[in-house]
Amino acid sequence: MEQEVVIFNASLPLQSEETLYTLAIGGGKWTSVTAQTGEVEAPEAVCLDKWNGSTADARLLLDAKGKIVLPGFVDAHMHLDKAFSLPEVGNVSGTLGEAVVNYAAAAPRFSKEEIKARIMRSALQSISYGTVVLRSHLDFHVKHGKDVAMRTIEAAIEVKEELKPYAELQLFPLLPYFELSEAALDTAEESVAMGVTGLGGAPHLSPNPEPDIDRLFALADKLGCPVDLHTDESDDPNQRTAIHIARRAMEYGWRGKVTAGHLCSLAAMKDEDAAMIIGLMAEAGMGAVTLPGANLYLQGRHDAFPVRRGVTRVKELLAAGIPLAAASDNMHDPFHPFGRGDLLLIALVTAYAAHMGSPAEMREVLRMITEYPARVTGADGYGILSGNPAHFVALDARTPEELLTMLPERRWVWRGGTCLKAAPAKEKWSSALLQGYWEDSCERVDFVQKRALML
Ligand SMILES: [Zn+2]
Repeated sequence: MEQEVVIFNASLPLQSEETLYTLAIGGGKWTSVTAQTGEVEAPEAVCLDKWNGSTADARLLLDAKGKIVLPGFVDAHMHLDKAFSLPEVGNVSGTLGEAVVNYAAAAPRFSKEEIKARIMRSALQSISYGTVVLRSHLDFHVKHGKDVAMRTIEAAIEVKEELKPYAELQLFPLLPYFELSEAALDTAEESVAMGVTGLGGAPHLSPNPEPDIDRLFALADKLGCPVDLHTDESDDPNQRTAIHIARRAMEYGWRGKVTAGHLCSLAAMKDEDAAMIIGLMAEAGMGAVTLPGANLYLQGRHDAFPVRRGVTRVKELLAAGIPLAAASDNMHDPFHPFGRGDLLLIALVTAYAAHMGSPAEMREVLRMITEYPARVTGADGYGILSGNPAHFVALDARTPEELLTMLPERRWVWRGGTCLKAAPAKEKWSSALLQGYWEDSCERVDFVQKRALML
């Protein structure tokens, strides 16, 4: 029998913060999303804070007590296959150039089992923080032989199938950086037939990016698949492959099918040049992704002070109406030694990097890990609306301010109305006295009261 779930007193900051909501789930979907008039008394409901995750009852009533419920996070740009490879690959200089060279040299040494374990661990870790859609680029080193490229593709497709009930994995092989040969294109075609989602690449690294972009678009056209490119990941203001990508997207009429990630050079060029490129991208209906963790780390490495930050023009892209996702990129690999697959942490890094800390901007960075990447990745039926699949994450915070300040570890991750992971019990101080001081001070220094003063 399908379980029915009702959640009272949920805060939905992406909808409205004027009120709390009652959310009902049946058959794995939202059956109603109802604005309340004030806080509802629900004595028959289990307090979410104290719920142990058991779903044995046919009808489960939960009281969120004002906690935030967001649609499941969408991580629009990851490298699951490379995650946790830093100890084996290394990157002494911390530059993008050394990361590319070192990983390419190490690629033939990795077995399919090792790659699969890295994909599984990093995917599960992301899901545990509340991510429901994961778009991963995949290493595709055909120059080392087809079997080296295909190991990663096979491992990723196996994990995609095994995790299908729990999350959606989208896979994009990174077509070779330096020569887009017929053999590479044939192998890419084969990988699409096997089940990868679309075509990726990093054409700005090619000595002849424009013909490479043309060949890649022609293949995507033949296969009917989307394109997601690492674009102008450079501090060089003259790196402008985004122009050619946008022109091709317009020519093919592929609104919503072409994504550009990184776009670092936009931050290095003059305002008018960046405005021209952003205008073309908007006209082409492209999506964009900023990867602030990796780019703060990798860019600016060749600068003397003042050192550039390397993160793209976040506010300008958003102002142009381009769906701009904030995403994880790499996790503990030669490209980025940190990161744990937690998009809330990436939202915080975005807020720092793009100077987005006003109340409105904090809500905008939450959209950059939910609604905007859902548009970038073409996720259907996304959001907490009646009739959509009930994929969501409840978090131990009641306002976006509390969420971004405290980055709560305590989260309840749900997919299709089933709880995949419930939060552990609240930690307590060993001393009863300190516990008392803690509870009293939390009550008096309260994020909800503070928000009332700010808004
Ligand atoms: Zn990347």
